[in-house]
Amino acid sequence: MLNTAPRAVRSGVDGLATPEQLVDLLARSGFSGRVDGDRAELEAVHEARARLRDLWALERDELAVAVNELLARHGAVPRLERHDGLDWHLHATPQDAPLADRFLVEAGMALLDVVRSDATDRLRTCAADDCDGVLVDLSRNGSKRFCSVRCGNRMNTIAFRARKAAEAAAAGGDAGAAGAVCG
Ligand SMILES: [Zn+2]
Ligand SMILES: [Zn+2]
Repeated sequence: MLNTAPRAVRSGVDGLATPEQLVDLLARSGFSGRVDGDRAELEAVHEARARLRDLWALERDELAVAVNELLARHGAVPRLERHDGLDWHLHATPQDAPLADRFLVEAGMALLDVVRSDATDRLRTCAADDCDGVLVDLSRNGSKRFCSVRCGNRMNTIAFRARKAAEAAAAGGDAGAAGAVCG
């Protein structure tokens, strides 16, 4: 649950440009509850994403205040739910609350743990050059650098091609240059 919101609010690399893309992402990430699938919902999600992005820049004490404010504004009330084959787990908004509100509250609940465990250094922005996605690194050793598997794979591929190109260039051929362009 903790990873859902940050993953869901990942930046434009996901191509959340249409309601269909949003609905598709939700289906793939298993985010449950009400989905309207319309323009208004998409715009609200974009706004929510921008607001969360701002939170990532805050110091711990500022973040604590902002999280309190976010949870209060959306009337978050933690309670146990059991649905879709999942055993009792935590929800803080009704499943029929607007999607963007549920994103924000779910992220707020995750950030609550981040502040409480003094782990604001785990709030990162994606290390991919072409992505400004945000992530919460919940890995044991704190080594998570990319917002998604997709970004990680893309950067690995680029590094691999660069290495191959350098090797080929060192070998004197121009296959390396071609490889770097055509991949
Ligand atoms: Zn649930
Ligand atoms: Zn990324």
